[in-house]
Order: sequence, then structure tokens, then C-alpha cells
Amino acid sequence: MKTLLLTVICLFTLSVATAQIAQVSSPNDKLKVELLLVQSKPFYTVIYDNKTILEASPLGLTTNEGDFSNNLTFVNAKSGHIDKSYSQAKIKKSQIHYQANTLTCTFVNSNNDSIDITFQVSNNDIAFRYELPAWGNTRACVVEREATGYKFPVQTTTFISEMMSPMNAFARTSPSYETGYTNDEPVGKASGNGDGYVFPGLFRVGDDGWVLLSETGVRSLYCASHLSDGKEEGLYTVEFPNVKQNNGFGSTGAQMALPGVTPWRTITVGSNLTPIVETTIPFDVVDPLYEPSQEYQYGRSTWSWIVWMDGSMNWNDQVTYIDLASELGFEYILIDALWDDNIGYERMKELVAYAKSKNVDVFLWYNSNGGFNDAPQGPHNKMNTSIARKKEMKWLQEIGVKGLKVDFFGGDKQETMRLYEDILSDANDYGLMIVFHGCTLPRGWERMYPNYVGSEAVLASEMLIFSDYARDNEAFFATLHPFIRNAVGSMEFGGVLLNKYLNKGNKVGQERQTTDIFQLATAVLYQNPVQMFALTPNNLTDVPAFEIDFMKEVPTTWDETIYIDGTPGKYAVIARRHGNTWYVAGVNAQETAVKLKLNLPMLANQKVRLYSDDNKLNPTLKEAQVKKDGAVDVIIQPKGGMIIVSN
Ligand code: CA
Repeated sequence: MKTLLLTVICLFTLSVATAQIAQVSSPNDKLKVELLLVQSKPFYTVIYDNKTILEASPLGLTTNEGDFSNNLTFVNAKSGHIDKSYSQAKIKKSQIHYQANTLTCTFVNSNNDSIDITFQVSNNDIAFRYELPAWGNTRACVVEREATGYKFPVQTTTFISEMMSPMNAFARTSPSYETGYTNDEPVGKASGNGDGYVFPGLFRVGDDGWVLLSETGVRSLYCASHLSDGKEEGLYTVEFPNVKQNNGFGSTGAQMALPGVTPWRTITVGSNLTPIVETTIPFDVVDPLYEPSQEYQYGRSTWSWIVWMDGSMNWNDQVTYIDLASELGFEYILIDALWDDNIGYERMKELVAYAKSKNVDVFLWYNSNGGFNDAPQGPHNKMNTSIARKKEMKWLQEIGVKGLKVDFFGGDKQETMRLYEDILSDANDYGLMIVFHGCTLPRGWERMYPNYVGSEAVLASEMLIFSDYARDNEAFFATLHPFIRNAVGSMEFGGVLLNKYLNKGNKVGQERQTTDIFQLATAVLYQNPVQMFALTPNNLTDVPAFEIDFMKEVPTTWDETIYIDGTPGKYAVIARRHGNTWYVAGVNAQETAVKLKLNLPMLANQKVRLYSDDNKLNPTLKEAQVKKDGAVDVIIQPKGGMIIVSN
């Protein structure tokens, strides 16, 4: 009797306190978002194909001018539709058609100040953000924290990467998004340092679907966010940067002019991994922030530093690597750190001219510092103020440099987002492309900034040189990137290492664990419009000629990208099209060979080139025939690779 009474009371309470206030579905009606008000707090749920993907998950934010996460009253909801087409030469796909249904819900808080929450729902992607009007004469606020969260069903497992601690790692340069991943582990785990997990994060909702969480449209007007530790019952919330980043300087919240909007938080959902690999949501909901000052040329680059290290940062070795780029038909050389001391400004002008004489253009390295890390590598103090930057960039333009690699940022605060944006904007004025290293995840930047061409934000090739852990797990991480990090943004990995030992001597030391074909496959698997490849001059003669020929022809821009096969952590096969040529690339992280019947309808009935490892892991190139129905059998060896190229 007592229990029954309690149940009746609970049901009664629930019915008055919980109200579904609005809902929005994708154009194909499979993906649904429902907005709820539970005891005056806003929540949302996500349903895909009639299965619960996110349970009631919190919404709202708190500003210094009022709380918009509690004591809210629903005012009204407006629906709409977006249909937009655009082209973008430097992401996974060149022509994009984005269609979404939209829902904007207006709430007022206890002060009668209002906030809008807007959802855009396309067939496999949800983007949502908060839109704040001016409140009377209040035209500025600071967003102090968000209630925004994602509550996964209990059966969900995670593929997520820990946020690094502030002012840690090399020369106090972290966080820089360079840690490992959980692999199919239960929800609810705390990170090692309590700082949570970076965007993007991949979640598998048992057999009900896959979810990729990220954010986009983050620029100088907000901080970058990340995911909390796993909280009770599968909840992850949006967290602002640790205040200790950047030596404790700069605020962790976001300063906003009113009216103002937050970045978009994105949720990509599918019953399989196709929508995850193929999503363009980071780019669909943002627009270019300025016109390109010129048409930027993407391409491939050599760089000596990755294998020959600091000792190669001298005139002679840079000439050697310019000659290597020229021999390979690569468009660029990246001249890395220490050039200011070891080559000098005067001779750099000559070196750029020499490169030009060999039909090679130059990317130059810069330290982003500033006053927020101890990295000793120069040039210093050239990128951190507008005055120094413009003077330097004017010189760079005069001597014909085409791009910069700016390194060591170490923070997600709004303070740092301003620096990223200011560097990009100034660089465009001087015709310079920008690559960031030691940095945050790009959040829609490929579309927002016309001269932006990629970020590291991954445990990249340098760690293969420095760390046994990275070498041992190279294949494992490679099977994650197409589904996680590289699914939402360009990834400047700096790979394709063909030395057996990852040093200049190539005889002893850091032994590569993966095969040559694995390495070649990453040239396709990893997407960045300018790729710094880790080839060395000896590779011209000490690997089979067909490997070098492959590197001479492999493109860095793609018209289409599609998921073919794979499971994160085990193996991955994706296909990319450049013009009329398809490249299908696969890697295997498992202890045993994987035998696959690939379905490649776009290559049906065609003769193709098949690069693979034989059972002794030696590289082979053969002609293969794709059957009439598009089927082709391939074997990918342990820590090996596979590439199919159409003729
Ligand atoms: Ca790095």
C-alpha cells in the first residue's frame, strides 16, 4: 500500500513537472530530438531509428548576468528548414548539400530574461547552440559555465581521448590533444587527471548505433570546450578550459557581446559508421569569415626535422630536402624550428630563392610564444602580437614564403582562440597558409578561415620517433583516426615513414612496427590538404620504386570520402576520390591478418592496382580485377596495409 501510494505520488509529480515542449526530426524522419522541461530545467533526448541514443540530457548555461539552466519557463517554439549547398576544396568532400530541419525554443528565466536554444537536425547530424539576446540595457555578459550534457544509455562504450593537464609535457606546452584513447570501455569512467576528455569523442550505444560528439564554429568569440569525466549513469557534460592553462593567465569562461551565440555542439548519429566517416557537420553550420586574398595551393611537402631531427636544421640539409621535394615532384618543403639561429634571416631569403629555382615552395616554422610556455625553439615573439606579426609576415611575403607552421599553443581559453584567429587573419593579408602544431582541435576552421590548412592535435609522427608507446600502438591509433579525430577536421600527422628505423642512420634504434604498405596507406587514410611526408633522401633508392612512384602521384585533396569497412581499434578501410581516381586505403591493428570482401561498386568490373603486404610482410604491387558486382577480396596483414587505386 505504501509503495503504491509512493508510485502514485511520483507519477503525479512527474506529470506536472515533466513536459515535452517541442520536437524536431531530420528530413528523412529517422533522427529525432525532443525538448523537455523537467522541474523547470531544459533537457533533450535523441532517438535514431526508434532507438534511444541519448536519454534526457541537460541544456542551459549560466552567465554573470543570470542563470539560464534552472527556473526556466517555456515561451514558444519556431520551426524552419535549411537547404544549403557549398563547395570546399580542402576537406573530405568537395561538393556538399546540407538539408536540415530547425527548431528554436525560447525560454525565460526567473528575471524574465530570455534565451533561445536552436537545433538543426539533418539526416545523421544534430547541431545545437544557445542564442542570447540583449537583456534590456545589458549588452555584454560572461558565460561562466554550461549545463549542456550528453547522457548515454548504460550499454554505451567509449572511444575517447583524455584532455592533457595544463602547463605540462614538453616545456610546459600542454594541453595539445596528444594522448591515447579508451577502446570500447564502459561509460562513466573518470580521466586520469580529472580534466575530462577532448572533442571529438566516439560512443557506441551497444547495437543501437554510433555517436560522434564534437563542436564547431569556435573562434575568437568563445572558448573551446571539452567533455567532463564520465559522471553517474553515463552523463558527460560540456566543460570549459582548466583555468591553469597558459600559466593561469586568461579566463576560463567566454566573454560575449549581446546579442550573441555560442559555438555549435554537434552530435553525429548512425546505425553504422558511415555517417561518422562521411559527416561534414563541422563545416555545414559555419561560413567563411573573410575572403581568401588569393587562391591557395595545397600539396605535399618534405621536412627534414621529423627523421633527421634538430641536427638537420642547417643550410646543407635543407638544400638536400629541397632537392628531395623536387625529385618527388612535391610542391613544398617545411623548414622546421631553429632556422632563425642556424640559417638566419639573410640566408633564408637565399634558401627560399633556391627552393623556388627547383620549383619548390616553402613553409617556415614559428613558435607561437608569447609568454605561456618554455619551448626554447625559435623564432620567438614573432607571432604573439599584431605588430610583430605584420612586420614578419611582410618580410615572409617579400621573400616568397607560402605558409607557416606555428607551434606550441597549449590552451583552449578564449584568450588562445583569439591568438589562433589573429594569426590566421593577418596571414591571409600576406598570402600565407597556416598549419598549427602543439595545438587544439580545429573546429570548422577549414571553412571559416580560407588560408587555414590543418592542425596536429593528435599523437603524431614525432611521437613515433620519441616513444615506444606510440610506435607499439601506431596501427591501433590509425584504425581510430578516420572515425574520430580526422572525421571532424584536417589532421596534419606528418607521416609516411619508410625508414625501417626512425632515425637518420636507419640501422638501429627506433624500429618501425608497421609495414611499408601500412605507411603508404596512411597517405590516403589521413586527410590534410597540405601533407608533410616523412620521406628521407635514402628512401629514393632503398625502397621498391613503386612505393616512391605512389608517393609521387598521391593527391592531398579529395572530392569524396566514403566508409568501406572497419571497426575502431581493429581495422579501417575508407575510400577517397580525387577527380576520376579512387584510392581505397586500409590498415589492420590486429595480431592476425584480416580477410575482407570489400564492396566497391564504383570500381565494378575494373582492373585496379592493388598494393598489399605478402605473408612475410613484404610490399607487393599487383593488378586486381574487381568483380561485376563490385566485390574484391583483400587480405590486410597484422600492422599492415592495403591500397587499391583505380586506373
Ligand atoms: Ca606536437
